[in-house]
Amino acid sequence: MDFIPFSQIIGQEKAIQFLKRAMAQEKLPHAYLFVGIHGVGKTSTAVALAQAINCTESKNGEGCGKCISCRQFPGGNFPDLRIVEPDGQFIRIEQIREIDRGMSFKPLSGRYRVVIVRRAEMMTPEAANAFLKTLEEPPPGNILILNVTEPRDLLPTVVSRCQKVGFRPIPASLVAQGLTEKMSLDHEKALLLARIAEGSLGRALAMGEKGFLGKRHEYISSLLSLRNISETEALEMALRFTGKEKKKEHDEKGEEIGKIEKEEIPLLFGVWKSWYRDMLLIRSEGSEDKIINRDLCLELKKAAEGFKIKNLISSLLLIDQGESDFLHSRNLDLMMENLMLDLRRLMGEAG
Ligand SMILES: [Zn+2]
Repeated sequence: MDFIPFSQIIGQEKAIQFLKRAMAQEKLPHAYLFVGIHGVGKTSTAVALAQAINCTESKNGEGCGKCISCRQFPGGNFPDLRIVEPDGQFIRIEQIREIDRGMSFKPLSGRYRVVIVRRAEMMTPEAANAFLKTLEEPPPGNILILNVTEPRDLLPTVVSRCQKVGFRPIPASLVAQGLTEKMSLDHEKALLLARIAEGSLGRALAMGEKGFLGKRHEYISSLLSLRNISETEALEMALRFTGKEKKKEHDEKGEEIGKIEKEEIPLLFGVWKSWYRDMLLIRSEGSEDKIINRDLCLELKKAAEGFKIKNLISSLLLIDQGESDFLHSRNLDLMMENLMLDLRRLMGEAG
């Protein structure tokens, strides 16, 4: 991943200020818990912290960018930085043992070794228990940073041993700005992506890269079609989304229709949520400039007609739950089947 110093991380001033204060007071804890949704800059901030605390000429809590230590960061060559993430679905005990082995040596060049554990909630129970011991007495010179979406997904004993730092969703205008800087997108499209990404620059960038704007229509029409298909067809659709069921239909380019890649599922959910939120706004006569899918206003109004507000809210909560199940790698096929049936049922009760 690209190295970004503190000064260029967007939307996380509060978290960064908090970290800088601890640096200034030389009160660095041995473990941090960075809490926030995916793609808001937790890992970038952790790496920037590693740079700042190892800088020999640091001013105001920022790395100077010029000393030997600072210069190793952009190329990913700083020897005392370790980033651990799930190996497949989980973070396994072997990975935790490796962290332990690494930490038993003094930092090679810097003052501090920084170990970042991304998606810490994906530790297996054995890994989490082993990690608890790591947290109890890490050798001096080591700082552990755990990234997590929801602290309640970790052992309470792990959470209580870490200094918590909150990362907020990034305002849509800033996400849009970040998008236009990184990709050649016009402002309106960037803003649409930013709104659907719910404050996650990482998700917005992923959507931009995957040609998402074209797919949004496909995701929405699948959703709308639920109203007119049978239960069996809804179940087939669910398994097509999870990749279990292959559909034989192909479009003119010979590509399968309705098949999506696994990493697209969060995008699919993001679009569906934006769609339900928009319908909720329309039904509750909220302000129209808050509508995310503004370019599809007519379709939205038609879809929202007669929908009970409580059913819109229930649908939103169901998609939220599906998103969480997906993140935790629970049974994807079953989750998707239930979701499609429930959404279909709530649409049936619309009129
Ligand atoms: Zn420096």
